[in-house]
Amino acid sequence: MSSRRDFLEKLTVSAIGLPLLYNSADLFAATPAEPYDGPILKVAIMGLGGYGSRVAEAMQSCTRAKLVGLISGTPSKLVKWREKYDIPEKNCYNYETYDQIKDNPDIDAVYIITPNALHKEAALRVAKADKHVISEKPMGINAQEGQEMVDACKAAGVHLLVGYRMHFEPKTVAVIKMRQNGEFGKLNFFQGQSGFDIGDPTQWRLDKSLAGGGAMMDIGIYSINGARYMVGEEPIWVTAQETKTEPEKFKEGVDETIQFQLGFPSGVVASCLSTYNMSYLDRFFLTGDDGFVEMQPSTGYGPIEGRTNKGKLTQPHVTHQTLQMDGMAQLIYEGVQPIVPVDGEEGVKDLKIIDAIYKAIETGEKVTL
Ligand code: NDP
Repeated sequence: MSSRRDFLEKLTVSAIGLPLLYNSADLFAATPAEPYDGPILKVAIMGLGGYGSRVAEAMQSCTRAKLVGLISGTPSKLVKWREKYDIPEKNCYNYETYDQIKDNPDIDAVYIITPNALHKEAALRVAKADKHVISEKPMGINAQEGQEMVDACKAAGVHLLVGYRMHFEPKTVAVIKMRQNGEFGKLNFFQGQSGFDIGDPTQWRLDKSLAGGGAMMDIGIYSINGARYMVGEEPIWVTAQETKTEPEKFKEGVDETIQFQLGFPSGVVASCLSTYNMSYLDRFFLTGDDGFVEMQPSTGYGPIEGRTNKGKLTQPHVTHQTLQMDGMAQLIYEGVQPIVPVDGEEGVKDLKIIDAIYKAIETGEKVTL
């Protein structure tokens, strides 16, 4: 866990330590100069671990979302966080009691930031409590789980959103707009490299029962999602090859390194790498007849860096999770969609590709989507 965090932080300057370059609301509000006085999305975080801590910190700069509740299996964390973020005791729960959130009007949404294999059950219970669900990626450990989450939230009439922070990141959004405007011409090729050295062999990320897989679930998903938003199409076929150099550490069902290729309807091909056993892999490259974009780092916590054939990307860095949570509040209360969706259906699309990648490795065949 710490090694992943170190990786993301070493690649980039810590976002938390930087002053905000401008108010995050400016990216969303129709009239940026006016103070925001609309509805606030009141959020409880479930799972007070590494990423939950980052989200909580980032939410302190939100204008449309507020951390108001906590769900944790560790009583000492609840005490510490309650004090740090001024959270009332009545808004704190553990994994046995959180169904009672149904009766708590002070909480609108639960952000699930627990190990991957625990997301689905939590999402179903939160939906049953009539609260909006925000789930970290991967939303579940296969497409069937993701679809169950979508169906449950639909039936309950609550939003289901996935923590795709890059969909709100200014340089990423700018590149997607350039591609939509045809600035790269007819696209040909995307390359995505996502990986880091996982470190500690005892962590849940290397336990299939909690992680659902290995690097692909955790970091390879960035190249999958990135290939889709950079190219702007859904892949129609997948091929994949696995390499395992440390079978003791990366046990059955926990992938260490996978190379995969995606084919898109227009003929664009993507070549991607997902790994838990190499360092400094966080790079996207997209090329077309009229231009290219190269981003490195492309999905770390930022600042994201990149250049196109026309020059350097200069959009300002804003803490990703601050933008994401304000953006999600705006989506829920005003129906404003980000440039690429962050809903449950978007999460299921990535999981279908992950399922196909694992199938391609198992069968050695090209898998049609
Ligand atoms: P951590 O291990 O740091 O934290 C997970 C927390 O989940 C724990 O601290 C614990 O909190 C809770 N938990 C509940 N049950 C278990 C269990 N059986 N084993 C371990 N922890 C448990 O993980 P991360 O915060 O790094 O990752 C959590 C999720 O967030 C993952 O799905 C991951 O993919 C995602 N993530 C997303 C990132 C992004 O950039 N979007 C970056 C990093 C992670 P408590 O003690 O409070 O119960």
